[in-house]
Amino acid sequence: MKVSKRAGAVQPSATIAVSARAKELKAQGVDVVSFGAGEPDFDTPDYIKDSAVQAMKAGHTGYTAAAGVIELRAAIADKLQKENGLKYTPEQVIVTIGAKHAIYEAMQAVLDPGDEVIMQAPYWVTYPDAVKLADGLPKVIQADRAKGYKITPQQLKDAINEKTVMLIINSPNNPGGFSYSPEELAALAEVLEGTEVVVLSDEIYEKLIYGDTKFISFASISNDAYNRTLTVNGLSKAFAMTGWRLGYAAGPLEVIKAMGRLQSHMTSNPVTFVQQAAVTALTTTTDVVQEMRTEFERRGKYMAQRLNSIEGVVCPEPTGAFYCFPDVSNHYGRNINGTEIKSSLDFAKALLEQANVAVVPGLPFGCDDNVRLSFACSLEQITKGLDRIEKWLNQ
Ligand code: PMP
Repeated sequence: MKVSKRAGAVQPSATIAVSARAKELKAQGVDVVSFGAGEPDFDTPDYIKDSAVQAMKAGHTGYTAAAGVIELRAAIADKLQKENGLKYTPEQVIVTIGAKHAIYEAMQAVLDPGDEVIMQAPYWVTYPDAVKLADGLPKVIQADRAKGYKITPQQLKDAINEKTVMLIINSPNNPGGFSYSPEELAALAEVLEGTEVVVLSDEIYEKLIYGDTKFISFASISNDAYNRTLTVNGLSKAFAMTGWRLGYAAGPLEVIKAMGRLQSHMTSNPVTFVQQAAVTALTTTTDVVQEMRTEFERRGKYMAQRLNSIEGVVCPEPTGAFYCFPDVSNHYGRNINGTEIKSSLDFAKALLEQANVAVVPGLPFGCDDNVRLSFACSLEQITKGLDRIEKWLNQ
């Protein structure tokens, strides 16, 4: 059957080959240590699950307004005010089917053919494709390892031209595991002053920050930043709710309304009883998020320390999200047990086949010198996996 040029141009993720092979090996009974996960290894807290069950039983099973029930939009507006210092009305908030959907819709709502979207590498795999599906052009700024993989104001300045329509900021960062400080974000915001550039600030990992890192919403930097920013967030990472598919965006009314019009024809509303559970998640005070954060911090520190102790591996200690993103390129050019290692794909493939550890190659994140290891798995698994990597590289 005919397939459209649009769909044909979407690249299947280069990470799939490694994860498919890891599954195959596991099915054959091989003891694979997997650092591939992009989701918390914790279960959704019971009070949120109970809320969804109650909502279902109470008949919250029909359609709602496409942009979400006003009660949830108000709860999100309230959260953004209290936790992020951002003043939005409920009408300036749209509830989406995961933050991914909010990002896709934002591109569709803002971009015209040929519009450029600046993003840094490392970038989250979905960004370039979401831009291209809206006929936009990704413009990638290669960030420097020596700068902690963060772009500088000068790099941003150099990347902006008359075709620039949007800048994507993702801090804390997937896959980099780094965060921009409030001062660094303010310096980037200053570069944008006097331009028409829209900022999409993907804040999905805001709760997962470590050490003395401070999180700040991009829109809270200044009035100018507020007016040009679409704030994207969701419940997946902070509340261990990846499968519930609940995200949101907040920003200038005209863009949120445009996203709502698109959503009304694309998906209608996010799942009705999930919206009720989201109200519960956002309005209940508990320690569960903090407990999860503390555990991630312990694991991230340990993983980075182990990685750095291996010769030829360089890994900044993560300050956010749940990923280590070591540079392993010192090992490129080696032949390990008959396999030439020339790239992150070769590295990940050989590591999986020879030492049974699954990591994600950096290439699909725009950084072929690196691989990504998630620490959303137990400390035991981390220890076992790092022992194997160390032995494999030290031979
Ligand atoms: N942004 C980033 C940077 C992510 O890592 C992810 C999830 N991997 C998302 C957005 C999407 O999250 P959601 O589950 O809410 O669609």
